[in-house]
Amino acid sequence: MNATALAERFGTPLYVYELGEIRDAHKRLVLSLPAGSSLVYSLKANPHPALVRTLAALGCGAEVSSVSELRAALAAGVENRDIIYTGPAKTDIELQYAVAEEIMVSVESARDMKRLSDVAAGASTTADCILRVNPDRDARSTGLTMTGGATQFGIDERWLLGHASALRASRVRIRGLHFYIGSNIVGVDELLRSFVIALETLPGLVSALAIELDVLDLGGGFPHPYASRGVARDLASLSAPLAIELDAALERIPCERRPRIVFESGRYLAGACGTLICRVQDVKSSRGSRFVLLDAGINHLGGMHGLRRLRPLSVDLLPARRPQVNPSAQGTSGRAALVGPLCTPLDSWARDVELPDLIPGDLVMVPNVGAYGLTASLVAFLSRRLPAEVVLDDNEVVDATRLALQRRSVDAEAPRT
Ligand SMILES: *Cc1c(COP(=O)(O)O)cnc(C)c1O
Repeated sequence: MNATALAERFGTPLYVYELGEIRDAHKRLVLSLPAGSSLVYSLKANPHPALVRTLAALGCGAEVSSVSELRAALAAGVENRDIIYTGPAKTDIELQYAVAEEIMVSVESARDMKRLSDVAAGASTTADCILRVNPDRDARSTGLTMTGGATQFGIDERWLLGHASALRASRVRIRGLHFYIGSNIVGVDELLRSFVIALETLPGLVSALAIELDVLDLGGGFPHPYASRGVARDLASLSAPLAIELDAALERIPCERRPRIVFESGRYLAGACGTLICRVQDVKSSRGSRFVLLDAGINHLGGMHGLRRLRPLSVDLLPARRPQVNPSAQGTSGRAALVGPLCTPLDSWARDVELPDLIPGDLVMVPNVGAYGLTASLVAFLSRRLPAEVVLDDNEVVDATRLALQRRSVDAEAPRT
């Protein structure tokens, strides 16, 4: 990638996505899963149409959580039957869209089920669902946070075992089960353990619900570096032991035919394809501490970290170019706070990191931000223009767009979207 030429042409900050990277990641992940598995892309990682289209062309399905994500998946060419609609607090409008498009819905509570059934009845049709389960077994010992404890996600396994009949709804067929044990699970052994936690619940749940298991969505958690150097971990050694665990689990339940096995991924698929190019605006010192100020901040990357709900980022800045005006200027390297342009002390990617020699005007690149980059950030805060997003295929620019926030009269809006 020629960061300098791209920055000159499109300005900074600038997101660049390389389609070759997302194709490679898809190929590697497919090879890490048991043969015959389906893979769906979680659009929340990055709903950019070019990325979704590229994955759809490879046969990848979609996991969506809003009407806009659903539309993006359909527009990108994902088949309706390869889309799963998930999320913990779905509205009737969302359910109506999902039912109209015959999209499988992941049901997260008894009330969710009732509403899906009512919506299907209202449309004089039926709906298919999978039940999202929160397994009893505590996975936090493996460093996972989304299951085994109190959570707004899914239905507690224990409750399901005792209340299966409370979930029957006349207009909804329960086609299977959905798990999502955690995100960014560090390695092959931990991933395997997380899938086993899901698989262990099958005999009890399939029998309590008295369902034929047509679909088993085991979620994901496939890890990827974020905003730091490094490449995706090789997960190829997951495939064989996972296939063995899966087959053993399916032996323990009555199955007329082998269910469709689904895995989900956002960050593993999209992480590597994205780079944020930004520019050093200033380098300052305050009471002995060095501050490197960039033209991008938590409005463009790492918004969720900026709120300090997550661990602080560990950002790597790869130097791209010293500006022509002063090619031999010497900056200072060493530790510094890395901050953005927003008028809040929360606009910080790192409070104390080792940075290369930098002076104002330098271009820098943040690697591995194809997932949870722009759309996971505080894009409206301080009303700055959003970065352009440029898509490269084989080093050719094939798409260049900019998302814009616009205030419009609600009277002019399409109804209830
Ligand atoms: C966020 C999410 C994913 C994607 O997670 P990654 O860590 O990006 O792979 C998949 N499934 C569900 C249900 C999610 O909420």
